[in-house]
This record gives sequence, structure tokens and C-alpha cells, in this order.
Amino acid sequence: DIAMYRAKGIVGTAFLHFTPGADHHDLGAELGKAIDDGQLYLLYQPIVALPDHRVLGAEALVRWRHPTHGTLPPQSFIPLAERTGLIVPLSQWVLRAAIGQLATWTDDSLTLSVNVSARDLREPGFAATVAVLLTEYGIAPRRLTLEVTSIDSDESCPSVAELRSMGVRVALDDFGTGPSSLTMLTDCPVDELKLDSSFTQARNPAAATVLTLARSLGMTAVAEGVETPDQANRLHDLGYGSAQGFYFARPLSPEKFSELLTGTPMAA
Ligand code: C2E
Ligand code: MG
Ligand code: MG
Ligand code: MG
Repeated sequence: DIAMYRAKGIVGTAFLHFTPGADHHDLGAELGKAIDDGQLYLLYQPIVALPDHRVLGAEALVRWRHPTHGTLPPQSFIPLAERTGLIVPLSQWVLRAAIGQLATWTDDSLTLSVNVSARDLREPGFAATVAVLLTEYGIAPRRLTLEVTSIDSDESCPSVAELRSMGVRVALDDFGTGPSSLTMLTDCPVDELKLDSSFTQARNPAAATVLTLARSLGMTAVAEGVETPDQANRLHDLGYGSAQGFYFARPLSPEKFSELLTGTPMAA
């Protein structure tokens, strides 16, 4: 629990940084309790094959059911969690909840992607804690993908290498924007590049370039943020085999996701 992480010095108690528009002092203090009190929950957004929209798996996306502020999106508390160190116990909660959910899906070809931060990868023993969870729930490592937006070569890459040697897949999220770089890719290879939604939605060469890059490095590419049939068709024409976005499905409760799996196939 949070007290244990505090005792180990992983979780700080000072919240020195500010984000606009929120009572972050309150939120920071409340988040630790929220993790322990079961106020976090996960939605599952399908990742589908192109062009047939067959469900390949899902990405787990965290939400906070705050007692007074209502449902909070991850942008309102993940950056805070990363600054304070609470991301470490938060990610442990997310991983357990997500892998536990994956274990309830009877089709064992389904995969699950979970977002973690570079800070998690820097924790000694992170890969081992993932291994313990996979064993506990009887999940083949290949079914799990961990998504990160950045990898620092000295501090985070050893965890990436260890996870990959266990068979867990690693993806670079929001690829093409933000902190990811070609240096990062050559210094610390991953399994998958997740094309940032801005490139999914733009009619410029970035989507094609990222797919070529992924292929030349022996990686797969997934497009996120697909909102229209035109975008889906274009990605398929470019050679993308899988994609994610509101056009296919919104992030869903576990119940709705299971209904999607057992019900009629999504329209192609
Ligand atoms: P992400 O990992 O890039 O996740 C994709 C985000 O895009 C999700 O927002 C998803 O709901 C949204 N999205 C999906 N399809 C579409 C679309 O067609 N159009 C648009 N406009 N948006 C789409 P969400 O759930 O608000 O998550 C935002 C970010 O918060 C995530 O971006 C990820 O970086 C972070 N995050 C979410 N859950 C977790 C978590 O459990 N742990 C950590 N560390 N970060 C998380
Ligand atoms: Mg992601
Ligand atoms: Mg992303
Ligand atoms: Mg994103």
C-alpha cells in the first residue's frame, strides 16, 4: 500500500509543481488514498485488425472516480503521479487490474496494452514484478504490451531489455511526437511503434514513414486515434495491419468489452 512506498522513500509527500485548473495539492494528497480505496478503474479500448475490424486486444486506460470532482481523465492526475512518485504504486495497481482482467478473457489470442512511465522502468525489479503477475494469472508474456512514451537509455533501457527477454512486448507510444527519437530506437530497441494520433489524422507522409521505419527495424506499427473511415482506409492502403480509435470503438467498461467480444462482430 501507499504507506509502504512512502516508507521506502519512493513516494514523496511534497507537491511542488503546479498544473493549471486543478486543486493539485488536494489531488496529490488524495491520489494515494484513491489507489488504496479503489477509486481508480480501467476502461478497455479495442485494438483492431485492418481492414476487417477483428478485435485483436485492447489498451487499458485508467480513470479516477473522484468522490467530489466526478470522473477524472488521466491527464489530470498521471503527470502529478509522475512528479510525486505515486506513479509507481499507481502502475502496480493498473498492472494487476489489467492482467487480472486479461485472465478473464477466454480467447487467449487477445492481447492487452498497458501504459507505464519511464519512472516505472527505472524502479529496480520492475520487470520481476511484471513476471510475478503474469505467473500469478497464468498469462503468456506475449499477450502483454507495455507502452511508454520515452526510454532513457541508461536508466530505463535495462528494464525494457529484461521485459523483452521475458517475452513481454514493449511499444513506444505517441511515436513521432514528444520525447521519442531515432537515437532511442537504435539504443534501446522495442517491439512496436504506436503512431501518434496527430499523424493518423493528418494527410502527410509521416504515417508511411513510421511504418517503413518500423519494418526496417523489425518492429510492428499500430495507428492510434482513428476517427473516420477515410483515415482507416488510408492506413490500410499504406500497409497498417492494426489500429485503434473512436471510429472502431471508444474505451469500454470490461462488461461492454466482453459484450463486444461475444456479440456480433463489429461492422467492417
Ligand atoms: P495514450 O496511451 O496515447 O492513449 C490514447 C488516448 O487517446 C486515450 O485517452 C484514448 O481515450 C484517446 N483516444 C482513443 N481513440 C481516440 C480517437 O479516435 N480520437 C481521440 N481524440 N482520442 C482517442 P485517455 O484515456 O484520456 O488517456 C490519455 C493518456 O493518459 C494516455 O495516452 C496515456 O498516456 C495516459 N494514460 C492512460 N491510462 C494510463 C495508465 O493506466 N497509466 C499511465 N501511466 N498512463 C495512462
Ligand atoms: Mg498508450
Ligand atoms: Mg498514444
Ligand atoms: Mg496519446
